[in-house]
Amino acid sequence: ETAPPSEALDTLHRVFGYDAFRGDQSAIVEHVVAGGDALVLMPTGGGKSLCYQIPALVRPGVGVVVSPLIALMQDQVDALRNLGVRAGFLNSTQDFTQRQQVEDAFVTGELDLLYLAPERLAMESTARLFDRGKISLFAIDEAHCVSQWGHDFRPEYLSLSALHERWPDVPRIALTATATEATHREISTRLKLDEARHFVASFDRPNIQYRIVGKNSPQRQLLEFLRTEHPGDAGIVYCLSRNSVEKTAEFLSGNGIPAVPYHAGLDARTRERHQSRFLREDGLVVVATIAFGMGIDKPDVRFVAHLDLPKSVEGYYQETGRAGRDGQPSTAWLAYGLQDVVQQRKMIDTSEGDDAHRRKLGAHLNAMLALCETVECRRTQILGYFGEKAEPCGNCDTCLAPPEKWDGTIPAQKLLSTVVRLRNERRQKFGAGQIIDILLGKETPKVQQFQHNTLKVFGIGTELKEPEWRAVVRQLLAQGMLAVEGDYGSLVLTEDSASVLNSERQVMLRREPERAAKAAKPARR
Ligand code: ADP
Ligand code: ZN
Repeated sequence: ETAPPSEALDTLHRVFGYDAFRGDQSAIVEHVVAGGDALVLMPTGGGKSLCYQIPALVRPGVGVVVSPLIALMQDQVDALRNLGVRAGFLNSTQDFTQRQQVEDAFVTGELDLLYLAPERLAMESTARLFDRGKISLFAIDEAHCVSQWGHDFRPEYLSLSALHERWPDVPRIALTATATEATHREISTRLKLDEARHFVASFDRPNIQYRIVGKNSPQRQLLEFLRTEHPGDAGIVYCLSRNSVEKTAEFLSGNGIPAVPYHAGLDARTRERHQSRFLREDGLVVVATIAFGMGIDKPDVRFVAHLDLPKSVEGYYQETGRAGRDGQPSTAWLAYGLQDVVQQRKMIDTSEGDDAHRRKLGAHLNAMLALCETVECRRTQILGYFGEKAEPCGNCDTCLAPPEKWDGTIPAQKLLSTVVRLRNERRQKFGAGQIIDILLGKETPKVQQFQHNTLKVFGIGTELKEPEWRAVVRQLLAQGMLAVEGDYGSLVLTEDSASVLNSERQVMLRREPERAAKAAKPARR
């Protein structure tokens, strides 16, 4: 590898005060300084900003940075100004005079970096402005926002492909922390980055410990986790709904853990206040929906906890990646249960879009379930999802307390035959709760109402306890031998169910390790 031009290294020392480039930074900087296009895939905290900031300082002209993080632009620009970099931004929060000042500075070449909200790009006035100044490069931050499948999709990002047509000589650098092959390809095509060199960094975050536990009494489990492992630490707790965000924040506050809520239903000022408290205070916990976190640069986030199952491994990886940007040991903790699967299936079934879209969402969920139910190293599994090979890490729950595998073929057959019976004899479908009651031979009112106590399978599953049956259901779902559908999470067979029922296939299941089983009990007071 050749050394970067000394001007780049000099800028790194002089302006940013750092000794050396990290990882791919030097190669990327060199490539862009020389006028090449680049697509940079680097995990959160990997150091993407310098990859465009330094070329923008080294090349003549103004570096234009497109970023969807309008709320953070002021902070970013202030930070750069403190280093003596001439930076400005243009977005909807400014009045006419403020905008005018920035535009003048751009035209006269008194700026090094100009941050721009994506919606300004489509405006003809912006194009006219660009024509009046000299641009050193276009940096497209959070480039995965161009992906229509991702939850961060911004329609304005689609217009970014026009940059190259209008200013063909200006190099472009697209950056993202989202790493799957599919997103990678989509960024490349949609932004027309045909000639771009791809820089793909390792996505391993060795200082993050991944842990996934069975969900039972989620708030209590969370409290126990925070009290025993992260007292006084800053962290993020993700919940799926606004309502559970509010409830969980109240619960934590009520139990002596300083916590604030953050979701799109709060007014902008409250959100801003909570975000800046999180950035500035020590040891504050933000309970949030996934609306929170993109672009948040807080180095000492010690844990990211999920109280609900994320929709995809990509989302999970992004969200957990907000922990430990300073390289210090941090925890990614997720509590997940059968109800998560039922709820998400229902959301997919009722989601907008065509079948292909729903299949894609289903595939994302399945990959996430496979991660939850794996008996292998979590990290190996996550990195494998991003196309990287890795040895067991020794620092995740499955490495630290390897779950036992057991042959669950007979219980799986009992469970699936119960689903078959119900379908054949009653022409009705039932959820996991009822099916487990039948297997355990419980005379509940609902069992009596449907005369399920007369079924041949009634009481044939007493060798397992209720939580163990729930684990069997979850794992059969994760392995695609069972499916859920409808509003009440009815269990139904899949194509793969037959091979289990015919004993053509062995079903290997995971036994929850002792330690996780303990944590699953309601916490002591
Ligand atoms: P990303 O955008 O990839 O999440 P950032 O660009 O915000 O990451 O960088 C993460 C942190 O690492 C920042 O605090 C940044 O100052 C620091 N950093 C980046 N590159 C270097 C380097 N070469 N040497 C030292 N610190 C660096
Ligand atoms: Zn591991």
